[in-house]
Parts: sequence; structure tokens; C-alpha cells
Amino acid sequence: MRILQGFMRILIRGAAVIPKPEAGVIPKADVVIEGRRFAAVAVEEEVQGPFDKIVEGEGKLLIPGLVNAHTHLAMTLFRGLAQDRPLMQWLEEEVWPREKKLTPEVVHWFSLLGLVEMIRSGTTAFADMYFFMEEVAEAAEKAGLRALLSYGIIAPTPEKIELELKKAEAFAREWDGKAEGRIRAALSPHAPYTCGPEVWKRVVALAKELRIPIHTHLSETKEEVERFRAQVGRSPVEWLEELGVFGVHTLAAHGVHLSEKDIEILAAHGVHVAHCPTSNLKLACGIAPVVEMLKGGVNVCLGTDGAGSAGDLNMVEEMRLAALLAKVKTGDPQALPAPEALSLATWRGAAALGWGKDLGTIEPGRRADGVMIKLGQAHFFPDYDLLANLVYAGRGSEVDTVFVDGRFLLLEGELQTLDEEEILGRCRELAKKFR
Ligand SMILES: [Zn+2]
Repeated sequence: MRILQGFMRILIRGAAVIPKPEAGVIPKADVVIEGRRFAAVAVEEEVQGPFDKIVEGEGKLLIPGLVNAHTHLAMTLFRGLAQDRPLMQWLEEEVWPREKKLTPEVVHWFSLLGLVEMIRSGTTAFADMYFFMEEVAEAAEKAGLRALLSYGIIAPTPEKIELELKKAEAFAREWDGKAEGRIRAALSPHAPYTCGPEVWKRVVALAKELRIPIHTHLSETKEEVERFRAQVGRSPVEWLEELGVFGVHTLAAHGVHLSEKDIEILAAHGVHVAHCPTSNLKLACGIAPVVEMLKGGVNVCLGTDGAGSAGDLNMVEEMRLAALLAKVKTGDPQALPAPEALSLATWRGAAALGWGKDLGTIEPGRRADGVMIKLGQAHFFPDYDLLANLVYAGRGSEVDTVFVDGRFLLLEGELQTLDEEEILGRCRELAKKFR
């Protein structure tokens, strides 16, 4: 293959394109990728060759890569395990005892399993918080996805604080900026109710020193927020603000139970909230005030949460659920229309992960992360509005081609970087120990 000044030139020819959700659908365009970035979206004009690779786009829809802004990849291990239970009961009786048996090997293979699932449903970037994060990072590097990764700090006792912070810092120093810049690190105190003020203050100082974001859980269940208010005398959001946490780029998952004041605080500090509709529904946490947050100026994005609590890692489903829940919560069918739902899963997610200026749309100069969806299936007909079809009829399984930084991870249905059969085989074996 010819390499032009070290860069590949790729043409995606004649696809329907959604360059950004607000722009709607271009029925037919030629998209040029040079190296790691989009170079042109040509509608009328002819694009100039030569190209190192031409991908036929006819009968396909090209969209910006989907961003899963909150997950715990290796929790694919717990998919289908002791389901339909309250969150704390599920964690305390089923998950935490099993997590004591986790090994680097298990995290490695179940992260790869999650990556296969994410690639096949159109995710190109994700934010992950868990244990043995070196394994998650290596898996992400191998798969070729973009990732914001962090070790999940849970520090209920003073002795644990040192140990946990050390692990989190070592991972961040080792991995931030790795994989040609596709992997970035964050710091992740698990939640306000699992980490005390000492942890938060030290995390803030370290995040400022390393210039990396904080990724945490925030106000997920009603009981958690009520208990916190009773004990601390304020909401978790008010408390984190007082501790100075929001002076750092913060990505907070859930935000289901927020007061008006909380939303004002989140907006004032530019906190990004990852709405996780499936997980919130399945655990009966409630419906996050997404419309109120967006109106208030909070950047809302979308996440699946772990597959153990959410069932799967499918961002197309999350988009649909987000749109539907916003309507039923507000009593307004015009709430969170399809283009806005897609924005949550694309450029808003990119901004939440810290790639805002560089990623999230298909425009010249932006990072070349994209997804091609195969049209022509019954549930995608007719084509009055392919964006609406994607949000309201999409399943994720139509995803045919996925690329990150101009590199193909899935090409016409074939995984390019991962061996799916090997991964399934290893996971099948390893899962036996966790039954
Ligand atoms: Zn989570």
C-alpha cells in the first residue's frame, strides 16, 4: 500500500453522511481521511486522488463515532449474573465477593470481550473506571479504541487511602497520552459516599498536577442522596463543589437525583454528566433530569455503565432510551429530539472525555473516528430521515465499519484488530470460576 508522507489517504465514496447531528443527513458525499484526520466532506465537488484505500459507501450511513462516556468494561464478566436485584444487594452479595477473585487475566479478557461488543455496535471512544486498569489499557490499545481510563478508588479507611491513591497515580502516570495519544488517564474516586474529604482533596491536587480529569459516580440513587444529606447536611453536588472538585474537568456518571441548585452548580463549573438510561432503569434508580440539565447549560453525554448492571454496551440503544425517557419525564414529545439524542452520543461525549475541540463530528481537521451503518434492512426503511431511523429504529447490529484515527477496527463486518473467536473461547473458560 502506498504511504504518502507517512500518511494514508482514504476515500469513503458516496455514503449518506451525518457530519454532525445538528446538520442532518447529507444524502451522498465523498469523505476523505488523511492520516488520523478528516480532510474533506465533498458533496458536489470531485475529490482528487490518489488514495491508498477506497471504501464504498453506497447503501451506507456514515456518522461520527459513538462515545460511551461511562462504563466498567470488564464487568461483562457479570452479565446475566443474579439479575433483577436492588443495586446494593447485588453489589454486596454477588459482585464484591466475586471481585475479590479477579485477576489481571480475567480483567484482560473480559475487557476485550467488551471491546468486541462496543466496536460491533459503533462505539469508538469510552470512559472506563475499574481495577487492574493496565489490563484494560492494554486491551484498548490492542483494539484501537480511544479511551479515558482510571483506577476506581474506594477508600473507606485511612490505611486504604494511601494504597488506593498510589495505585491510581501510578496508572495515570504510566498511561496518560499512550497509544499515540488515544489513551488518556483520569482519577476516579468511586463516589462521594465511598470516598471521604481527604481522598477528594488529594485527588483534586493530583489531577491539577497531572492535568487530567476526574471521573466519578454522582447522585445515582434516591437513598444514597437522602442518606448523604442526612449525614453531611448538603447534597453530594454541593459537597463536591465545596471541596473544590469541580475546579478540575469532571465527568460525573448518572446525576439522577439532582436539585435545581445542583444543576446550577454543575452548569456553573462545566461539569459533564454521563446519563446512563439503561442502568438507571434496570436498577430502578429513576430518570435523570436530562432536559433540565441541558436547558441549564450542563453538557450531558451518554454511557452504558457496566454490562453487569446494564445488560449490554450498546450506545444505539442508549440513544433511543435517552430520547424516550426525556419525553415521558417532561410529558413533552418534543423533548430531546433525535438529533439532540445523537449529539449526546457523539460530540457531547467527546467533550466530556476531554477531546471536545478535536473530536465528535465529521469535519475537516477533526480526528477521523467514524462508523458506517449498513442500510437496506427492513427496520431502516424507508429513508425519509435516516437520523430519526438511527435513533428510533437502530439496533447497533447494523454497524458495518468502524474506524478510529483513520484506522479500521471493523471493516465490512470483519474485526480488524481483535480475534473474536479467541476472546470468546478464553472468556468461556474463565467465566466457569465465577458461577
Ligand atoms: Zn458506573
